[in-house]
Amino acid sequence: MAKKRKRGESAKGKVKGETRDDGDQRGLPGIPNQNEVEGEDVERASPVRLKKVDRRQLLLRTIDVERLISDEHPARAIWEFVGRLDLSGFMAHVNSVEGGAGRPAIDPHLLVSLWVYSYSRGVGSARAIERLCEHDPAYQWLTGMESISAHTLSDFRVAHGESLRELFVQTLGLLSAEGLVPLARVMQDGTRVRANACSGGFRSKERIEEFLEQARDALEAADKEPEEESSRQEQRARERARREKKERLESALKQFDKLKAHKSRVQRASMSDPDARIMKQADGGSAPSYNVQVSTDAAYSVIVGIETTQSGADYRELTPAIERVEQTLDRTPEQVVVDGGYISHANIVSMARRGIELIGPQPRSKSAQANRQKSFRQRGVSPKYESSNFTYDEATKAYVCPEGKFLPYDAKYERNGVMRYRYKASEQDCNKCPVKARCCPHARLGRAIELLEPVPEIQAFRREMQTERAKAIYRTRPEVAEFPNLWIKAKFQLRQFHVRGLAKVNTEALWAALTYDILQWIRLRWKPRTAALPAPA
Ligand code: SF4
Repeated sequence: MAKKRKRGESAKGKVKGETRDDGDQRGLPGIPNQNEVEGEDVERASPVRLKKVDRRQLLLRTIDVERLISDEHPARAIWEFVGRLDLSGFMAHVNSVEGGAGRPAIDPHLLVSLWVYSYSRGVGSARAIERLCEHDPAYQWLTGMESISAHTLSDFRVAHGESLRELFVQTLGLLSAEGLVPLARVMQDGTRVRANACSGGFRSKERIEEFLEQARDALEAADKEPEEESSRQEQRARERARREKKERLESALKQFDKLKAHKSRVQRASMSDPDARIMKQADGGSAPSYNVQVSTDAAYSVIVGIETTQSGADYRELTPAIERVEQTLDRTPEQVVVDGGYISHANIVSMARRGIELIGPQPRSKSAQANRQKSFRQRGVSPKYESSNFTYDEATKAYVCPEGKFLPYDAKYERNGVMRYRYKASEQDCNKCPVKARCCPHARLGRAIELLEPVPEIQAFRREMQTERAKAIYRTRPEVAEFPNLWIKAKFQLRQFHVRGLAKVNTEALWAALTYDILQWIRLRWKPRTAALPAPA
């Protein structure tokens, strides 16, 4: 009869915590080994036997690439959707031809699918994708177990801006055909995305000229240097870095002309991303950024327009955004919902005259009043001579200035949705006036004041925005309009652009919008259809 042994007691010895085969399996002092269960006596005929890890073997395995991912995997849906698009715009740049020399080019179907899948997983780095292609089953399925270099991926992302925009238009066409873009209500919103530049890299024009001089000298000196023993690849990389630095500095210098043309008070440009602008952030701080304008169809939350701009002010972007949507879909939205940043007299009138119902908060009369006072101060008008201190004389149908001179009616005209009635003093009265320097220091032809009257479109907007219907629609704005922006930042990890320069960041924003719309199609059409299919036998 077998003798009853306590757990941990070997067949030969009785040392607790020791297995028959020591080495990696040996228990550590004070820590019970794997055979020991506290407070329990276990009866065993033999010592435990564990499977050991063998990392010195070479294996040859069969992989069914098609079965690397499940039938419901989103990579399959992305591949299917991209396969429906016309990629001839990308094909035009492929140099490899049948019967020609060199390796065949990588199919744009694969490169587009890889980028869309990567953005959907929050991967925005070409190097990260290159690594994922080596071990991640979804990437291996997409590539058919082939490797793709980070250079190829990175060049492809930014080299085909026009073809990508065309792809976005096609995507909206497909979604529209499936009834996902009714365009009854469009929400417009802007979000600041950080530029790939540091806040401390902004310099004055003089400093950038100095740096540019140094960069040109460094390039010239490098041309004269004898060939080093380093590899050609390293030399090319150094050359490229010097050339790119010089180009960036040249671009930074050009920004000063642009800033001057826009009458900007900004006197500095970024050396790392010259197109970036310092913009206010949601957290109250400021950082080098771009303003990404997103138009979303409210029915199924589909992005119908996206554009990156250098302007921090949203109100200038509404009309161009609606024009882009009209151009892309060949239809006009019935209603546009915006926040206070887009409300201006010009936008209210512009939307009304296009036959679009605008929903948004009332224009702030307090800020209009403050702006008027600021404008008087800037023109050197003292408070006593602001237009509010001019009185209207019913008998003569003219205004009377604080010095008792008459300003008869002169002309009327419309600007920014406001009808302006102008009353003007005579040139002689003002030029002889002892207080001219405090009333109209720069008016050579005499002081004029304007009586403002909102045009009918503004009055109708004000009335409509007081109704319960308009208020209820406006309350839905944050949920719908801000959702794509938050999704792009949180899920696609696009809080900061991976590329530099306005054209390239615009292309990256387009990738994000394309990815977002394809994910909406997967959620609304592909998943329900896949779920309805009978399970394989
Ligand atoms: S400058 Fe002309 S408008 Fe102004 S106070 Fe004198 S007269 Fe009147």
